Amino acid sequence: MKLLGITAHPDDEAGAFGGSLLLYHSRGVETFVICLTPGQAATNRGQARSDEELAALRREEFAASCRILHVTSAEILNYPDGGLQKANFYEVVGELTRRVRDIKPNLILTMGPEGAITGHPDHSMASVFATMAFHWAARKDRYPEQLTNNRTPHRAQKLYYSTAPLLLPDRPPVSPPPNTAIIDITPFLDDKIKAFKAHSTQAPLMERVEKTMRKFGSKELFHLAARNHPSAIEQETDLLTGLE
Ligand SMILES: [Zn+2]
Repeated sequence: MKLLGITAHPDDEAGAFGGSLLLYHSRGVETFVICLTPGQAATNRGQARSDEELAALRREEFAASCRILHVTSAEILNYPDGGLQKANFYEVVGELTRRVRDIKPNLILTMGPEGAITGHPDHSMASVFATMAFHWAARKDRYPEQLTNNRTPHRAQKLYYSTAPLLLPDRPPVSPPPNTAIIDITPFLDDKIKAFKAHSTQAPLMERVEKTMRKFGSKELFHLAARNHPSAIEQETDLLTGLE
């Protein structure tokens, strides 16, 4: 069983679904994370003197976070932080589609098109790109030039958007997808917070994030956005429900 998470920035992997990465690793699932940008436009910059230095620091922090989360394989692509809405749609979806075809995940997790709790446009675009990669990886008429050297179309079984139980009062209002799965990550909350804190350039955010995670973080919420056969929505407590 394989799970692939697709995010926009280093630290999204911990914040959006770090507990679920840990939970499903503990149940023998191979986990993968693809992050589209190295986060070089962040407000909090640690000791970095340039975007390049910040990107390098955040790549290391991402690797450290993914080790804490026991991610089997993690990768940061090199798209511009803050610029995903201007990236080439066909190119980005193609890069993700190729990785979906190579990894062959059973389920894909990403953020919601509202942009998650912060409404960040990169989160929205990560959601849109990941959604199209989920659908198009399965079709032999999409990116057919990738289908060489034994690479075949891959049809993942479920696509989930992470979603939140609250709105942030000091951010633009977002309209989150309703939760259809509530995952209890209580045994993994401390390690999720530890993984978030591995992003030390983002230290000014830590106090607030930890407080929010301690208050709401024992559960991770998801919205089932697509699956590989017609179905009615059922409230789930396990993302693996119904998977072969
Ligand atoms: Zn982010």
